[in-house]
Amino acid sequence: MLGLMQEWPLTVDKIIDHAKTNFPRREVVTRSTEGPITRSNYAAVWENAKRATNAFRARGVASGDRVGTLAWTTDRHMEIWYGAMNMGAVLHTVNPRLFPEQIAWIINHAEDKILFLDTTFIPIVEKIAPLLKTVTTFVLLSDRAQAPAGAIPHFVAYDAFLHGHSTDAAWGGFDEHTAAGLCYTSGTTGDPKGVLYSHRSNVLHAMMANQTDGFGCGAQDAVMPIAPMFHANAWAITFVAPMCGAKLVMPGPKLDGANLYELIEGEGVTFIAGVPTVQLALLNHVRDNGLKFSTLRRVAIGGSAIPEAVLRAYEDDYGVEVIHAWGMTEMSPIGTFGKPHPEHVKLGHDDRIKAKLKQGRAPFGVELKITDDDGNLKPHDGKAFGRLMVRGPAVARAYFKNAGAKNDKGECLEPCGFFDTGDVATIDELGVMQITDRAKDVIKSGGEWISSIDIENIAMGADGVACAAVIGVYHPKWDERPLLIVEPKSGAHPTRERMLAVLDGKIAKWWMPDDVVFVEKIPLGATGKINKLALREMFKNYQLPTTQAAE
Ligand code: ADP
Repeated sequence: MLGLMQEWPLTVDKIIDHAKTNFPRREVVTRSTEGPITRSNYAAVWENAKRATNAFRARGVASGDRVGTLAWTTDRHMEIWYGAMNMGAVLHTVNPRLFPEQIAWIINHAEDKILFLDTTFIPIVEKIAPLLKTVTTFVLLSDRAQAPAGAIPHFVAYDAFLHGHSTDAAWGGFDEHTAAGLCYTSGTTGDPKGVLYSHRSNVLHAMMANQTDGFGCGAQDAVMPIAPMFHANAWAITFVAPMCGAKLVMPGPKLDGANLYELIEGEGVTFIAGVPTVQLALLNHVRDNGLKFSTLRRVAIGGSAIPEAVLRAYEDDYGVEVIHAWGMTEMSPIGTFGKPHPEHVKLGHDDRIKAKLKQGRAPFGVELKITDDDGNLKPHDGKAFGRLMVRGPAVARAYFKNAGAKNDKGECLEPCGFFDTGDVATIDELGVMQITDRAKDVIKSGGEWISSIDIENIAMGADGVACAAVIGVYHPKWDERPLLIVEPKSGAHPTRERMLAVLDGKIAKWWMPDDVVFVEKIPLGATGKINKLALREMFKNYQLPTTQAAE
């Protein structure tokens, strides 16, 4: 027997319709690419999204066609985001931090018809335009008056793109499984793979992400996604904020500590979300200038593990609650939240901090399990490591054009129907998950696994350390041994002995790095994370001092 409730397909046009109806004057504030702060609201974003839909249709974009963006987090980016998705086209956010050749490859693979770009990215587009096979129009997200066209062909300024189009455009009315967004993984191994979100997965994921034990945002909040829209949909915040009526503050291109702080204080921001490296820059700015946060209450940090120093600085020094989040592009991206379990409430302060450093519990809508290489379940005892597998309505089933297929249906799933995240983790009796490594970064020493993340977290908290990374380096007896790589803070001179002393007693003896090296800058990848691939390349012939003894 079927239920007798209404048909109401879960499509994202309903999100911006809801904001326009219920919160038309709630502000959308942007640090524009040109510099000044601009002010809009949900009614105006809705109107321009309608105009954008008509502009797309006039230029021959149809349902299922892809529209690309090389753009910062701004109100205009949000207008074309909804303008494209709401008519059944696919909004493809391209990560501009990738190499130009990779960007061209991705745009060709996606077959984008129109490419939107911020002025920042004119030099990239000038370079790759001749390589692009499907793009017929380039739209600069600036007004005609300020638009430096550069040498880009078929070029239109944003105001000209929208000009003359009415706000009368049909949205929705299609299957909720229709594709809405496309985002490529950064392709650290092999070609990038496209994750194709559906309307239904986006709507459900935004509701999952904003549960009370998740982002927990409401109409009283002013939220600022520091994670860009090209990094896994700004972690759903461009859906979450209009859904709940929060004021939305968009930081555009300026993601340094001073500019972020100015927006937080100037706009009364209560909630931010971003990777540890940008949080560190913000905290350094606040500390170095003797500032404090007057409105900020909660900060979601994910994308890589939170260094303990960042967690303690927010919670202990500034009274800001940290929500540790783990996830990945293939999960839309949220997988877990580190909000305390009721059992944690009894813990003393230091133990609570330790519990918060774990990646956390699955919200409703995510299933987690850990297995060995043959797919056998590992116990949830907080000790056994295993491959972390996930399942849920906002987890990828297959990649665009069946890239990386693992079965004859073109799916990227294990035989049990779960997606292998490529992470190695423990899960404890309370369901709290802790990442111990990326499967490819785990250090395999004498058949046992050493977690690089644990060592890095401790090293990053040491005096005079700006950033630290641990990689496995060849060792004749043990296969691999850990090498600690340290980027000192400017003017600081941490020593090898000091670094090893900081680790002593905090990790198992056999996890102690065999050597410590100092570098001027630890390389970061396209989403602001430590680029282990580049480090492994830099140190591939490194001779550990323990090598000779073993030979
Ligand atoms: P990319 O690595 O290409 O930027 P994602 O942004 O999808 O792609 O990254 C997903 C990966 O980032 C996860 O599989 C995990 O290894 C890592 N990650 C994300 N959040 C955390 C976290 N809170 N702690 C540790 N690792 C994390």
